[in-house]
Parts: sequence; structure tokens; C-alpha cells
Amino acid sequence: MSLAEPQIPPTAELKVVTDATCTFCGCVCDDIDLTVDGQHIVEAKRACVLGKAWFLNHEVEDRPSCTIEGRPASVAEGVERAARILTDARYPIVYGLSDTTCEAQRVAVGLADWIGGTVDTTTSVCHGPSGMAFQGVGEVTCTLGEVLHRGDFIMFWGSNPAESHPRHFTKYSLMPKGMFVPNGRKDRTCVVVDVRKTKSAKAADIFLQIKPRGDFEALWTLRALSQGIELDPEQVLSDTGLPLETWQDLMTRMKAAKFGVIFFGMGLTMTRGKHANSEALLALTRDMNKYTRFVCKPNRGHGNVTGADNVVTWRTGYPFGVNLSRGYPRFNPGEYTTSDTLARGEADAALIIASDPMANFSQPAREHLARIPFIALDPKETPTTRAATVAFNTAVYGINVPGTVYRMDDVPIPLRPAFDSPHPSDFDVLSGIEKRVKELKGI
Ligand code: SF4
Repeated sequence: MSLAEPQIPPTAELKVVTDATCTFCGCVCDDIDLTVDGQHIVEAKRACVLGKAWFLNHEVEDRPSCTIEGRPASVAEGVERAARILTDARYPIVYGLSDTTCEAQRVAVGLADWIGGTVDTTTSVCHGPSGMAFQGVGEVTCTLGEVLHRGDFIMFWGSNPAESHPRHFTKYSLMPKGMFVPNGRKDRTCVVVDVRKTKSAKAADIFLQIKPRGDFEALWTLRALSQGIELDPEQVLSDTGLPLETWQDLMTRMKAAKFGVIFFGMGLTMTRGKHANSEALLALTRDMNKYTRFVCKPNRGHGNVTGADNVVTWRTGYPFGVNLSRGYPRFNPGEYTTSDTLARGEADAALIIASDPMANFSQPAREHLARIPFIALDPKETPTTRAATVAFNTAVYGINVPGTVYRMDDVPIPLRPAFDSPHPSDFDVLSGIEKRVKELKGI
């Protein structure tokens, strides 16, 4: 053990897992050194404050691995009951998936197909509008490694990584010295666009506080300026809350950049305009490539929400909100997205994986979920697991379970677990349910 870690007593049981992967946020930092004492992680070197809390507060929960209607049951009994609920249903839904491995996600999508159900992920309540916009406009993008080595103009739009992704600035986007930005932060211009002065705004060279719900107009102002179109200064001020000269200055800087990057967050995708906002930003990025290299990337929150998008897309052709009841995939956000199918009272059974809709869906959606039989998989006890007909207490991905997750830039990263859990993994439970569903359906 190094002198830098004097607080940890050297005991024979300590083991070090190097280059472990933190799955707390979409940065998916894969350079964490974990010191493990039995079933406790006592040090998480290089993790940020959120990552440290994720690793160091992890306790193996002393609860049964499965409960049926609140009573302890064996995992096999839970699998049997879950399979029967799903095969008996006429409109089953599968939801969640952003905090589990790609391997488990793959099985969940297959399961949704066998039962003729609808599969949806938490993307539908965060970056779903971006998923729709990608299909209309496309995405000019790159990896975070390219941002590190090339990015000299970094803009954050409706995103606050200083609080949501604490290592984003230091590991990827602002501070690191790269091949073409050898002086790190000094070689980069940082612009933050938001409706309020966030902690990230303090790290920026330029902070633009736009009018709330004015993102669409602000982005189209920039699109017009990129094409050299004359604009009415009064209209721009009233639409965006900022004078035309400010936008002209920004466009001049954007055109002068060698490698511009726009990271965007839910402050853009979940405000007025939604997918039209995302489309405007993607189109602006495309426009800028007439002058210089420009890319954009959504700043994703959950550890493997990007994996959920990738896996659902490579299995069905669509990223979320996919109905499989006719034997082929149909994509229709608003119709097949879980908050909507529940709020309209359409689903008659549900499989919820690593998500807590009982804590954050609308009241009509929550009330309907409480009325139908449903299965929940989660390492924590939540309002959703408490209300579930069958609840599985599962092992934690990345800490107890190996597998693959996708970083927010669509780069797959392997997990290096710290210690085993007495509870089954999501993959094991879902594989068991899938096997039994196929038996019951005679497949
Ligand atoms: S930035 Fe995100 S992935 Fe990296 S250590 Fe912090 S919480 Fe974990």
C-alpha cells in the first residue's frame, strides 16, 4: 500500500482491484482503484465525491433475494411466478434497464419479444427527444478521447456536469492536456448556455443566460447566423433574452474553433420544444462543419443508459419505446413509452428492471402500476420493489457483477467487480424468466 493511503490499516484480507469501473454516472470512469476488505470497499482511488459515495456506501443488503407479495420466497419460486404473470398478460411492458449490464439488457429485450410486449428504457424520460432527433437529423459525433485530444471550443448547453458528472471537466473536456491542446485548459474556450447560473457556469469563460424556454429560438438564431442571414435585433433580444451582438460574437468564436464540441443535457431536451430543440442543436452542429470540425454529444446520466439505447437499437432497430406485439418492432414515443402506457391504463403486467417508476412517474401512471401484477429487479429497496408482486433483490453491476456498459460516447467498457454478492444478478434472474417463459409458451 502506498503512503498516500495511510488511513487504511494493512490487513491480510485487503485486496486491490485496479482499473475498476464506476457506473454511477455516464462518464463511466474506468480508472478507479478499489481497496476491498471482505464485503466492504474501503477506498476508491480517483473516484469523485459521487463515485466514492457509490463505492464506499455499498452494503450487501441482508434481505431475501426474492419476495412474492411481500413474503420471502426462493428465487426459483419468484422466477416461476414472474414467468406466469408475463405469459398470462395481454399487454405486458418491460421498463428501466439503464442501471444494469448490456448482457442483462439483451436478455430483457429478447424476453419482451417472446411475450409480445413493449420495451422501454429510462431514456424516454430523459434524452428520448434526442433519440427521436437523431433519426431525423443524424449526429455528428466523436469519442470523449477525441474531445480530450482535440477539443479547443467546448460548449455545454442545458447541462451542469460540475454537479452531475464531477470528473467530466478534469478527465475529458476542459482540464486535460491533449495532443492538439498541449496546454490543457489554457488552450480551450468554455461556453455554458443555461437558463440559470449553475456551478458549471463558474468554470466557463463565457456564460450565456438565456430566456427560460427560449432554447429553440437561441439555437435557430445561431443557425441563421452561421448561414449569414440578417436578423432583427429586437426580435432576437425578445426571443432569447440576449442581444444579437452576443450571438454574433459566439458564432465568430465557433467558426474560429479548430475542433468544437457541444455537450447538451436535459436542460435542453426536457424543456419547451423537446425533440425540436435537440434537432436544432444537431442541425447547428452539422451546419458548423461547413466552416470547421464540430461535434455534439448528449451528457447522459445513468451509468449504462447509453448501453440501453445501444442494445435496444441493435436488437429492434429503435432506441426506446418499442412495441413487439405484432412480431415485429414498432417505435412510437408517446404511444409505447412506459409513462404513457401506464398513465392511460393500457399495460396489464410489467417487468421493471433497475428503475423506480413508483417514485418518479405521474400519479395516474403510479396508480395504474399499483393495480397490475408486476415484477421488479433492484439492488435497493424502493417504492417500486415494495409495491411489486414479485421483487428480486439483485447484485450490483460493477461492484458485484461483471459485464459491459457503454460510456456516454458509445464506447463499451468492461466491468471489474470488487466482490461477490449472495444475491443473483439481473442477468441470471432475467435468463431464468426467459427460459421459463419459453417453456410455458412451448417455444
Ligand atoms: S464522474 Fe461519474 S463515473 Fe466518474 S467517478 Fe464520478 S460518479 Fe463515477
